[in-house]
Amino acid sequence: MSFESLGLRAELLRAVSEKGYSEPTPIQKQAIPVIMKGQDLMGGAQTGTGKTAGFTLPLLERLMASNKPGKGRRPIRALVLTPTRELAAQVHDSVQTYGRHLPLKSTVVFGGVSINPQKMKLIKGVDILVATPGRLLDHISQNSVNLSKIDILVLDEADRMLDMGFIHDIRKVLALLPKEKQTLLFSATFSSDIKKLANTLLKKPALIEVAQQNTTAERVTQVVHHVDKKRKRELLSFLIGSNNWEQVLVFNRTKHGANRLAEQLTNDGIASAAIHGNKSQGARTRALADFKSGKIRVLVATDIAARGLDINQLPHVVNFELPNVAEDYVHRIGRTGRAGNEGEAMSLVCVDELKLLKDIERLIKQDIPKVEIDGYKPDPSIKAEPINKGRGGRQQQKSGGRSGNRSNQRPAGKKRAGTKRASLSNSQSANNNQRSGNKKRGSSQSTNQNRNKSANRAQQYAH
Ligand code: AMP
Repeated sequence: MSFESLGLRAELLRAVSEKGYSEPTPIQKQAIPVIMKGQDLMGGAQTGTGKTAGFTLPLLERLMASNKPGKGRRPIRALVLTPTRELAAQVHDSVQTYGRHLPLKSTVVFGGVSINPQKMKLIKGVDILVATPGRLLDHISQNSVNLSKIDILVLDEADRMLDMGFIHDIRKVLALLPKEKQTLLFSATFSSDIKKLANTLLKKPALIEVAQQNTTAERVTQVVHHVDKKRKRELLSFLIGSNNWEQVLVFNRTKHGANRLAEQLTNDGIASAAIHGNKSQGARTRALADFKSGKIRVLVATDIAARGLDINQLPHVVNFELPNVAEDYVHRIGRTGRAGNEGEAMSLVCVDELKLLKDIERLIKQDIPKVEIDGYKPDPSIKAEPINKGRGGRQQQKSGGRSGNRSNQRPAGKKRAGTKRASLSNSQSANNNQRSGNKKRGSSQSTNQNRNKSANRAQQYAH
């Protein structure tokens, strides 16, 4: 099947061919005709499947088909909601890339940067708005957006939006949209919460699933290296150096751990940067650009910050620490092996993480091959220590709602000026004391104290 046979107009086909795509991906083949018909869609698609073009191309086509030149400011007719700033920026890039030969206007709004330039763009009028939920509500409260003319709503990575506690914000936004509209919901996983949301939101949706739920991308080779916690950094430097890897995305459970690891690797002579929610938007954009251009070899990321990163042909993903939530493993390794490329995902697993590894293997229904590295065999006398479930904050988020670094200057739980929404705490950064070389090793009392302290700390991830 070719892009031509999907009935997209010439301007879109030109943009697709300029991008170098020769054939639609499976999600594109299935989703584009459904969306072009105007039907609602529930799309189960992992990252890397080409889902962004899968909804952006038909969305542009439909907006063009119903483009009536009217008087006054053009109304926003399509809204795309995404969980993170990076994903919002990337979706907007796609909108601009695929729509480059069309007269449609678009913009993107997310937190962590000044709101005024965003307002200026909105005031001029756009057809398509890509937004993170928190910043969109800021604009709504400041009357810089009007959503009453939305024809198409896209919820991208809906599972992650719910995980991040955005459900209340999403519901507030939904209440402002017209009843008659086309809704497209994309999610990598279909939890009961997602199904509930879909039931209230979608009308007779087409169901499209291109990869089985929680299966790992086939083109990704996975391997586990068992190693002692305190030797992980050394092993990572060794693997990067001896294999001459030029671009490696490394996952860490905590922001603090990510910073520390990036610093240590840089000291080892491996240019690295960390990307997480406590970094300014400028620092995050710079780190990503440096990583993409090859200026830095290693990007150390936390789970939420990495969500939505689209780095073409990323060959290596390393789980420096296994995620506390098994599904995150699938998302992490989905960063490699994208769009037909081969990828390698490696996990450095210490004795504390054996249970997490079991959970992951149960979820993906396969045993990950274990390879011992000479000189890094784990010391069998080291006993497992409990892992601080920082990420267990999901449960709290579910009942508590969104977290955002707009709470940067506010204590957790305090209401922010200008809106009725409260900033809520999250314990994502709860396990700082898990890093290697932890001085508190062996002290369960201090571990517990840290855990409690961290659990009360507001998560400062920005939207
Ligand atoms: P996504 O899943 O939307 O994040 O897309 C993953 C990657 O696939 C992006 O780098 C896209 O540019 C790329 N991509 C999307 N559609 C195609 C296609 N039809 N052929 C080749 N690459 C594609």
